[in-house]
Amino acid sequence: AELREARIEKTKTVCTYCGVGCSFDIWTKERKILKVEPNMEAPANQISTCVKGKFGWDFVNSNERIVEPLIRRGDAFYPATWDEALDHIANNLLRIREEDGPDAIAYISSSKTTNEENYLMQKLARSVMFTNNIDNCSRYCQAPATEALRRTMGLGGDTGSISDLAISDLVIIVGANPAEAHPVLSTRLRRAQKKHGQKLIVADLRRNIMASRADLFLRPRQGTDLVWLTGVTKYIIDQGRHDAEFIEQRVTGFEDYVRAIEKYTLEYTAQVTGLSKDQLIQTADMITSANSVAICWAMGVTQHLGGSDTSTAICNLLIATGNAGRPGTGAYPLRGHNNVQGAGDFGCAPAFYPGYQPAADEDVRAKYERVWGTRLPSNPGLNNHQMVDAIHDGKLKAMYLVGEDMAVVDSNANYVQRAFEKLDFFVVQDMFLSKTASFADVILPASPSLEKDGTFTNTERRIQRLYQALPPLGQSKPDWQIIQLVANRLGANWNYSSPKEIFEEACATTELFAGATYARLEGYKSLQWPVLPDGTDTPHLYLDEFALEGGKARLYPVDWTQPLILPEEYDLELNNGRLLEHFHEGNMTARVPGIDKKIPSSFVEVSPELARDRGIVDGTLVRIASPYGRVKLRAVVTDRVKGNQIYIPQLSAKDDETVNMLTSSHHDTVTFTPAYKEMRVKMEVLEFT
Ligand code: SF4
Repeated sequence: AELREARIEKTKTVCTYCGVGCSFDIWTKERKILKVEPNMEAPANQISTCVKGKFGWDFVNSNERIVEPLIRRGDAFYPATWDEALDHIANNLLRIREEDGPDAIAYISSSKTTNEENYLMQKLARSVMFTNNIDNCSRYCQAPATEALRRTMGLGGDTGSISDLAISDLVIIVGANPAEAHPVLSTRLRRAQKKHGQKLIVADLRRNIMASRADLFLRPRQGTDLVWLTGVTKYIIDQGRHDAEFIEQRVTGFEDYVRAIEKYTLEYTAQVTGLSKDQLIQTADMITSANSVAICWAMGVTQHLGGSDTSTAICNLLIATGNAGRPGTGAYPLRGHNNVQGAGDFGCAPAFYPGYQPAADEDVRAKYERVWGTRLPSNPGLNNHQMVDAIHDGKLKAMYLVGEDMAVVDSNANYVQRAFEKLDFFVVQDMFLSKTASFADVILPASPSLEKDGTFTNTERRIQRLYQALPPLGQSKPDWQIIQLVANRLGANWNYSSPKEIFEEACATTELFAGATYARLEGYKSLQWPVLPDGTDTPHLYLDEFALEGGKARLYPVDWTQPLILPEEYDLELNNGRLLEHFHEGNMTARVPGIDKKIPSSFVEVSPELARDRGIVDGTLVRIASPYGRVKLRAVVTDRVKGNQIYIPQLSAKDDETVNMLTSSHHDTVTFTPAYKEMRVKMEVLEFT
């Protein structure tokens, strides 16, 4: 019995399924996962988890795990030794660099891997292969929010903490569905509603679970959020109910802003958005009568042609009403993946070194040249959207991609898949033979979070430790070890023996993390950046000053971008998003038998009106087409959607169910984030049930 007891291990980990960053103990016996045990010390979630955090781990033992390196020969993959795979990679990447230059190769890092792994990935791209062609999937989601925060307040992170949301008088959720995508955060809001009567406004196309709990539900026309946000801000200013003292002391640009938004009258706003004047006035009244207002938003805002500008309109509303720079207030773009914040923080972006130090700044480059002991590239790098275009244009020949299923999660998936077919050489590092991996020349077997040490950074800028609970399966390895092997085979001489060493190097060169150490992150301890050299962290940004010139926030005028115009035959508005049970495209959760059994495939939500009109009932098979592709799905008739709007989850088990076969390559004009949420489609019934 003692021996049996001895083999049971309890390890602290951080959930890998969303940006809330729940942490808990995971009990294991050999490779068997016995239970997940939440812990009161966990800063983001305490004793809560959601279904994914609690039951979503069996994928680590899936017999579909890739457990040895694979090399393509013809149409098939064959097992190889690590040496063979690394030689094959080095020979091809060095050949392409020699023939076509360093910028002919691109690197995609993963927002599911650790901070340390992301740091190494950008270091490999820049210091070993001499290119700034490095990006991660935050480009697909919250890059517009980051841009908006940098424009208006200075730093690209949530302004406060999840605990601030719990004490706000009023929370506004725009284009987000935390009940499914950030469940524990939604639980905390639910408790706040019950405990201190917190008010909730939800603005969304779809009557999601949060909308059903809201005091006020706004359903503006697709792509018009900027208009109602600005219209409400103008109305508040016109009524003299803005925070004049706060603006006087802590804000620049007020007069210019007021002039710029002149056209956003209640009449204009109501006409464009379809909201009534009463709804707009009620929204303004709720905002001005609350002592503290926080706004959460996600991809329903950012994934539009004007995603950055709408995110900026959110920040403008907060600043004009004095709801920034004090507890209980602020801007909360809800990060989707568990480490999407960290991937950007640690430099996986073409324009930024770690800590958002500009790659174009010669002093920054000189600093890293000293630290890394090598020359560094001065050419601007490509973002992941530009990379796909560059492959089609024949300028980009090779790619090394870690833990990202771009072939299904990127918008206009057909276009992306055709690009991957054109690559001269493609390395994919993953746990499973994803759709993207099926295009690879070499697949390197990676380990999941439970098989590695490191840190993740959640949506509230909180850095947390995860500890290795299981040994890597087969010959798979933690990503940091694989990236180091690849770098060394390409000519580097790295000798990192642990993620701790990588973290120390990253923090030593980055003001944002100056005082972050593994000792200060031990167990359930955590740090929210910026972390001062003495270890003091920052649960709430801007309490004393904003991170823009003069320490002031800036009201930043923006204007509405008209939605995409498509031929009339595309008569339905397509919306898309997450499911509670699955994570994103489903590569991990679809390999958890209990979850897969519950939701085995994707579907399309159709409104009762549309269903009546087309003769559709639950289970009817329909074909949906856009100018970019088509899918075949079973219908679910529900009043969550209204009129001619349909909704398809991002779950992508099969090509002909992948919603991104329908979405386009149009994108936010500033950040290149795809306009996933702006598409019109047509639908035909294939089979009546
Ligand atoms: Fe994991 Fe997010 Fe659920 Fe927390 S809320 S358990 S981080 S998926």
